[in-house]
Amino acid sequence: MNIILLGPPGAGKGTQAQRLEKTYKIVQISTGDMLRARKKAGDALGQELSSIMAAGNLVPDVLIIRMLAERIEQPDAANGFILDGFPRTVPQAEALDAMLVSKDLKLAAVIELKVDEEELVQRIAGRYSCAKCGSGYHDLYQKPEKTGVCDKCGATEFIRREDDKPEAVRNRLKVYHDQTAPILPYYTAKGLLQTVDGMAPIDDVSHAIESLLKKVA
Ligand code: ADP
Ligand code: AMP
Repeated sequence: MNIILLGPPGAGKGTQAQRLEKTYKIVQISTGDMLRARKKAGDALGQELSSIMAAGNLVPDVLIIRMLAERIEQPDAANGFILDGFPRTVPQAEALDAMLVSKDLKLAAVIELKVDEEELVQRIAGRYSCAKCGSGYHDLYQKPEKTGVCDKCGATEFIRREDDKPEAVRNRLKVYHDQTAPILPYYTAKGLLQTVDGMAPIDDVSHAIESLLKKVA
């Protein structure tokens, strides 16, 4: 089963993708995580990515499309994938379609998580993740069971994203409205778009996603 999770920064895509991985034994493909890993090389491309991402802008389509094409070829994606953060522009959505056709793959659903802007800002302000395994947390909404210890891997170091600072967040929300929201009608026209109330508590959002996937998968 192949799924796209869509929604503005902070909508809960990563949180739900981590749960869907376990439930359906399919892999989360987060282009943001891939780019953050690539940045670490510290070479010329890494530095260019750093400055684009710190400002909350999108990296060029040609680069991200190539990265995604290579990623979905990996053996762990053979059972299916959850795209988290891709596509983010109409050209990316079109390129994905061409990739899927060439591999004889189909999308089961494109799920939009709808969340008010005020709530997005709250979520991003409190977001942090495990430095070792990447599990996501929130200061108020999703605390680890034992304070300071990752539920998944037991590590005790956590990180906050550079681009979760207020200035970058304002730009990321604008970029979402200007460049990413136009892909919603693209998927509506294909009969694939399903909208879920992302304002609900995390468990309720997961249940809503699972019940709609039961109908389409
Ligand atoms: P995205 O991947 O869409 O940018 P995340 O999954 O990282 O968003 O979620 C942003 C923050 O909000 C995280 O700290 C996460 O723990 C928290 N969060 C996610 N979903 C919910 C929800 N339904 N209710 C409250 N907090 C949530
Ligand atoms: P995310 O982790 O999905 O919030 O992405 C973090 C940042 O990575 C974004 O603000 C962009 O700079 C970059 N990025 C992630 N995915 C894409 C994409 N599909 N297209 C362009 N830029 C992306």
